[in-house]
Amino acid sequence: MVHSLSVLGSTGSIGRQSLAAAAHLGIPVAAIAAQRSIALLEQQARQFRPRLVAVYDEAAAGALRTALADTDTRVVSGPEGLAEAAALPDADCVVTAVSGSVGLLPTLAAIDCGKRIALANKETLVCAGELVMARAKEKCAEIVPVDSEHSAIFQSLGGVLRSPAMHRILLTASGGPFRGLTKAETYHKTPAEALRHPNWSMGAKITVDSATMMNKGLEFIEAMHLFGAAPAQITVLVHPESVVHSAVEFIDGSVVAQMAVPDMGLPIQYALTFPDRAPSLCAPLDLFAAGALHFERPDLENTPCLALAMDAAQRGGVAPCVLSAANEAAVGLFLKESIPFGKISECVAAALDSIRFTGHPTLEDILECDEAARTFVLKDFS
Ligand code: MG
Repeated sequence: MVHSLSVLGSTGSIGRQSLAAAAHLGIPVAAIAAQRSIALLEQQARQFRPRLVAVYDEAAAGALRTALADTDTRVVSGPEGLAEAAALPDADCVVTAVSGSVGLLPTLAAIDCGKRIALANKETLVCAGELVMARAKEKCAEIVPVDSEHSAIFQSLGGVLRSPAMHRILLTASGGPFRGLTKAETYHKTPAEALRHPNWSMGAKITVDSATMMNKGLEFIEAMHLFGAAPAQITVLVHPESVVHSAVEFIDGSVVAQMAVPDMGLPIQYALTFPDRAPSLCAPLDLFAAGALHFERPDLENTPCLALAMDAAQRGGVAPCVLSAANEAAVGLFLKESIPFGKISECVAAALDSIRFTGHPTLEDILECDEAARTFVLKDFS
């Protein structure tokens, strides 16, 4: 079990559940960080008494500094503040739960300090997987996945990221709220409809990504990097009940799966207690109530985002970074109702066609491509 935590993205869904797990397990919190939700940050700071709070937004940081003037908590701001929270020596584990590619630099900062990364920010691995995994190896920083599918794969592998006995990964997907619908039927779906996920309660960006199935595409790329898998070694299965959270098929034909209720509290807690387990706040899984489990092939024709992601996974280089950044920008436009649901995949496809391809990108190339893809989407589609 880890000794002290920093939680980056503490006001989001994963961040709040990470703090709840820390309270449940009695793990002290050294630092919290968020973009600008200062009312909740103040509440969290008063409850967990961290040494440091990082607020990305400068103006919000100023307001929080005033609000917390009667406490010992120091308030910092901007990207430097986020990096400081990631590198704070008091914490031996950093939960990276910020949404989007803004998580990349603080994750690298935490890796450089050799901390355990409870990785909840999938965009980090999607954009810069090779770089991040190589840096973690070099700095002996442990990466424990928080994403439920990757936690399931990690658990199925017996608590390791690499196994020569792994034949393939069976990556499960709920299919989201629009499973079974055609592209034409979902084209004009509204944010309210896309945000109605049947099984999981999550933040807005990832819930829209679940509806487009881009989330599964990003997880496909995340799994490649985490587990050293070739694209051909990953099979996506639509599993509407969300009971099997993913599985590993070994070279002898054995399939080991991890099952549980769909509750992020469990993979979050496991990333903190690993290699041990502790009683959790999650409900036990009732297989009698589940009754039957179903598995289907994904419908790539009607989930173009998943198809684009699998294609970007094959191409490698900056393609996954362009995919992820363009998607982030397009989902932002969709949530503001500036573009229809069906346009998200069109924005991503157009960005992939337009941004110059680089095969072996440096960190600078990645940050540049990320910016270029966002600018491209915002310029052409808003
Ligand atoms: Mg997931």
